[in-house]
Amino acid sequence: MSIPLEYEVTLPDGQKFNQPSGLFINNEFIKSINGKTIESINPSTGEVNGSVYAAEKEDVDVAVKAAKEAFKHWKKVTGVKRGILLNKIADKLQEQRDLFGAIEAWDSGKNKTTNAVFDVDICISVFRYYAGWADKITGKVIQNDPKKLAYTVHEPLGIVGQIVPWNYPIAMAAWKLAPALAAGNVIILKTSEITPLSLLNVARLFKEVGFPPGVVNIISGYGATAGTALCVHPDIAKIAFTGSTATGKLISKAASDTMKAVTLELGGKSPLIIRADADLDQAVKWAAIGIMSNQGQICTATSRIYVQESIYEKFLEAYATHVKSKFKQGTMFNTDGVIVGPQVSKLQRDKVLRFIDIGKKEGARVVLGGEANTEGDLSKGFFVKPTIFADVKPEMTIVQEEIFGPVVSVGKYTTDDEALFLANNTNYGLGAAIFTKDLVVAHTMAAEIESGMVWINSSNDSDVHIPFGGVKMSGVGRELGEYGLTMYTQPKAIHVNLGTKL
Ligand code: NAD
Repeated sequence: MSIPLEYEVTLPDGQKFNQPSGLFINNEFIKSINGKTIESINPSTGEVNGSVYAAEKEDVDVAVKAAKEAFKHWKKVTGVKRGILLNKIADKLQEQRDLFGAIEAWDSGKNKTTNAVFDVDICISVFRYYAGWADKITGKVIQNDPKKLAYTVHEPLGIVGQIVPWNYPIAMAAWKLAPALAAGNVIILKTSEITPLSLLNVARLFKEVGFPPGVVNIISGYGATAGTALCVHPDIAKIAFTGSTATGKLISKAASDTMKAVTLELGGKSPLIIRADADLDQAVKWAAIGIMSNQGQICTATSRIYVQESIYEKFLEAYATHVKSKFKQGTMFNTDGVIVGPQVSKLQRDKVLRFIDIGKKEGARVVLGGEANTEGDLSKGFFVKPTIFADVKPEMTIVQEEIFGPVVSVGKYTTDDEALFLANNTNYGLGAAIFTKDLVVAHTMAAEIESGMVWINSSNDSDVHIPFGGVKMSGVGRELGEYGLTMYTQPKAIHVNLGTKL
């Protein structure tokens, strides 16, 4: 099917822009070779937002060729220059914050004012942060033998394939693009087939600010075709992936044949422990943000809450009241303080509803929600009411499996040891939260919890300076901070003989 390479869109908030539909390769939007396309569906209305060209293996080959050529020159560009270009991307996003927020809302279903514009802020801070790193990447001199000068240089890896999910389309891309570019790599990034629109608008910024052709290539496409083609291509040095654990396993296997470096940011089932000595009001607020924001579509969502027995019922009552009154549901351009939008797709909505059904059948108590929201206009979209299950048991499906929706399980415990056992009783290990006023217990528990991140008296507190990532089935490697940068360089050791004659 042939579609125009650009079409005008007027968003419900009145903003107009031209949506590109092509594959962004060599700083141009081009049609896919086989002409395949993807339809993008509006999560609030179920209508088609637009179509984009879908890359297949042949298109990935074209992108790799462009990136390979670009790397010859890009690797010689100074860190200062790379930093200037990255800062320019941040400037552009800053200038058009409202428009990019609106586009991201339209593409993914997030509410624009309470959610999507903050994703643009994340992108701005990530590009600025790594712009600062671009001229500060240094190796070491290793001083063991006076007859030898030994040093390391931290080189870029080359062509990096990046595969992102639909829950934070532009933010997850920024987490990957900015450090990889700061370190001197060239990139082929594949968007999610569910949210292909917003990143194509970001793509054009790279040309506008002066990145050379082929340094950043952004393609739409399905995982099984374009995604796999990236994972197996012999000229791609690394795959950086964010998405489900099931896909992470496939990617890891596919990338192993060509021995690629891999970072995987995968799923989670993060616990949140509330001790009887905690500030209950704070625990209630963070526990709500930790699962209900972004429609529960957050890998680090604190989806399992464990409350100490003596405050269990009191917490449940306060929690249900807070979620009911503050987590209003509505469409993405609603400006009345809507926090919970639709799930991203019908498939995802149905999956969440299936888990809710299982939760009821397995005997969990529904304290709030527990069904789709079909009130008025919401019936057209993919809305699930914020749902709280109580009295859950460790073996229940809703306690073990990642639901990826606004659904939380609450259970009770007696001792700190029991809380730790319950928290660690999962295959995942992304985040964990502890609420207590006892600092010794907080730090002792933080040490015992099996996760890549621990929040003491908060939840889902992500910060560009601080590494993000998981253990166990939640992934390999880290993003953000200096640790995130190291994932995009490799040390080369150079030995200089200063006098050892044979
Ligand atoms: P997904 O795994 O279905 O898809 C993610 C991306 O992988 C998409 O771009 C998709 O096209 C691609 N893909 C699918 N199959 C592929 C294959 N065989 N080879 C190569 N690429 C392939 O995940 P999703 O449904 O888009 O996102 C939701 C999941 O992502 C949740 O499980 C969530 O926990 C996880 N997630 C994790 C993090 C994190 O940082 N840990 C962040 C966001 C989302």
